[in-house]
Amino acid sequence: MKELKLSNSGRRKERLGIPLLTKEDVLHYKDTLLDELYRTEGGSLLYLSKQNKGIGWIVDGTLTDLEIDSYIHLFKMAKASRSSFFETMAETSAFRLFNGEGDGFGGLTIDLYNQNVLIQWYNKFTYLQKEKILKAIREVFPFVQAAYGKNRFEGTETLSEPLFGEGHFPECIKENGVSYEINLDEGWMSGIFLDQRMVRQKLMQGLARKKSVLNLFSYTGAFSVASAVGGAEITTSVDLAKRSLSLTRANFMANDIAFETQNIYVMDVFRYFDYAKKQKLTYDVIVLDPPSFARNGKKTFTVAKNYGELVQQSVDILNQEGGTLLASTNAANLSKEKFQEIIEAALLKKQVQFKIKHFESLPTDFKTARNMKESNYLKVFFIEVIR
Ligand code: SAH
Repeated sequence: MKELKLSNSGRRKERLGIPLLTKEDVLHYKDTLLDELYRTEGGSLLYLSKQNKGIGWIVDGTLTDLEIDSYIHLFKMAKASRSSFFETMAETSAFRLFNGEGDGFGGLTIDLYNQNVLIQWYNKFTYLQKEKILKAIREVFPFVQAAYGKNRFEGTETLSEPLFGEGHFPECIKENGVSYEINLDEGWMSGIFLDQRMVRQKLMQGLARKKSVLNLFSYTGAFSVASAVGGAEITTSVDLAKRSLSLTRANFMANDIAFETQNIYVMDVFRYFDYAKKQKLTYDVIVLDPPSFARNGKKTFTVAKNYGELVQQSVDILNQEGGTLLASTNAANLSKEKFQEIIEAALLKKQVQFKIKHFESLPTDFKTARNMKESNYLKVFFIEVIR
């Protein structure tokens, strides 16, 4: 195996167990080094490959090569640490089986959806390991009947790709007994963001009871459905994308809730604020979960620049006697502290009283690398606001 020399910063990462490398971490870095496996002087195994964050990963210290047995070993460890999930599949049949660097191998995630897996390749190197990885998956998770891939790296021609077997989509997964429709063979997303499981659980298990819930950036309405199952008086879902209407209806129907009893708007969230204010609509619970970056026509949205405005506008349509704001972001480049500052600055501007009641982050199947803060990207503040 080829040897690679790390710079001082790279050697520091190696020592501290920080797995993600950037160009500066490699001595005499050049692009021709990419998409290869290396060993360092310090004895670590790493691969280089371009990814939106960084150019390579130091892999689990117990590995000496990347043959099939190494992947089998990695997947067995990942499986063992999720034994409680396998025991409760009757209630929750979709969860993350393998979470990249958190499970010792950055650039690869594997999600289970009933008997199907969704594999996300975040760089070309992991994609080139496809055959070995698929064999190892079939060995360690023999109950898996179909696999689909999402090619999340530069230069790929196909985005979504069937890998083996055949799923029958749309199909319903269960999460804490609630049904959600998924499709692994279409577009970038599956229909549900598995990392928000704990937030849906909170809504379902009391938070939304007898409340009117506004779900902004609602996508397939998962937060609305969890709220409705949890006894919400009424839910309102708002998303710009046309597909959100039929997908949200389908998710209500999957739980025997007549979608006509709920509000679903295909609309820009900022337009909805104007509409709600004009109609004097107010809500007890508002869920704010925008994408970390979005473009609508000429307007761009980033968390750092626009989240404060979302909070301020939400306060205007929160119930006068007090309401709850669920402020969520998955922006990895924004720390929890910075996000909290943005929210608090917006609330102070509105001159309201508030109290952070709860903070939620990734569920345990989204294992994070101990020494890499960015891998713990999800941040959700539950805030009580009195206007
Ligand atoms: N909260 C959702 C996931 C949101 S994904 C869930 O937990 O399932 C982000 C969604 O924001 C996408 O569906 C996208 O269509 C929508 N979106 C982006 N910009 C928007 C805007 N300006 N107004 C309304 N929806 C928007």
